[in-house]
Amino acid sequence: MKTLNDFNFKDKKALIRVDFNVPLDDNFNVTDATRIASAKPTIIKVLEDGGSCILMSHLGRPKGTQDEFSLKHIVSKVEDLIGVETKFVSNCIGTEAEDEAANLKPGELLILENLRFHEEETKGDYDFAQKLSKLGDIYVNDAFGTAHRAHASTTIIAQFFPENKCFGYLLEQEITSIDKVLKSDDRPVLAILGGAKVSSKITVIENILDKVDAIIIGGGMAFTFVKAQGGTIGNSLVEDDKLDMALNILKQAKAKNVTIYIPIDSIIADHFNNNANTKVCDITAIPDGWMGLDAGPESRKQFHDVVMQSKTILWNGPLGVFEMENFANGTIALGNSIAEATKNGAFSLVGGGDSVAAVKQFSFENKVSYVSTGGGAMLESLEGKTLPGIAAILE
Ligand code: AMP
Repeated sequence: MKTLNDFNFKDKKALIRVDFNVPLDDNFNVTDATRIASAKPTIIKVLEDGGSCILMSHLGRPKGTQDEFSLKHIVSKVEDLIGVETKFVSNCIGTEAEDEAANLKPGELLILENLRFHEEETKGDYDFAQKLSKLGDIYVNDAFGTAHRAHASTTIIAQFFPENKCFGYLLEQEITSIDKVLKSDDRPVLAILGGAKVSSKITVIENILDKVDAIIIGGGMAFTFVKAQGGTIGNSLVEDDKLDMALNILKQAKAKNVTIYIPIDSIIADHFNNNANTKVCDITAIPDGWMGLDAGPESRKQFHDVVMQSKTILWNGPLGVFEMENFANGTIALGNSIAEATKNGAFSLVGGGDSVAAVKQFSFENKVSYVSTGGGAMLESLEGKTLPGIAAILE
């Protein structure tokens, strides 16, 4: 696996695919700069070697050129965070970009305009990728968030740098963290899967059954498993067409000696509302008109014990409707348990959009071993797929 450390960037131009798809407010200020900060180690390495960086990224889902999606809005934030004056070019391909890139001196930084202003980017267009490739000497992919897409700048472009391509530090860290879970010798290995739908995580569950010792299934997903086993779940979230599949997963888990934990009790509510009436209820006996919106106290206790016994922990998806204060406590309790296990030496990886949001909201970010920067990319890796952006560097 070729990484940044295999190259010396002195007098070289690094063409780096970063993920600067950051949220902006109405005045185009960056409201969360995590993704920019995450790319900093890679950028600094190139600059300190005596090279220059040409950064390419997408921002949002523009239809053609749309000013609101221009990467010019983030230039000053990049300057602040990296501490280097940053140039900007208003088209990612063409003579202006080529001239700016050619004139870049060691230690300088250039940001290209939004790649997705050209529809060729998401189409994975060969000619567009070739035009981009003219801008740099060494191609670096540091964008995990888009590594599951075979786009021009994430995948197709790599073929124009047969010897001169590598992973950036961020992408390397993401790959290593997922490997640490899926190929871990530090047992027991526990996966915690929550969130709304089983259907979006079936392939993940099936793939990890061969790799983990235990799985906690929580959140809305759990009710499909409870109902499949004959429980009464009232008005809780359920996927009726996945009941057989749930039973099949339980059967496969048993055959593979993987223990599956499903919540024992639930905080049930009479409305999908933070101010609804609530009570604690056995998860297999939820009355009509009530729905389970969070893990109950017995479940939290059991999950705590399981987490504390684990040496490797993967967490994807909240245990309840954490966006509502009254149904966030199961997710917070789990975050606390994982933080404690991590402090005791376990390796913990948190990934997937909503669990990352929860981890940030409840300030667990620095109490777990690694927080992934990619939602879809993380799920596809857990499904056992080699992501196209990663394969293109390995080829
Ligand atoms: P996902 O994107 O599949 O990880 O699902 C995340 C969403 O699942 C969050 O918005 C949670 O509010 C939601 N969720 C978690 N538990 C429940 C539940 N018991 N009932 C309904 N939605 C839930």
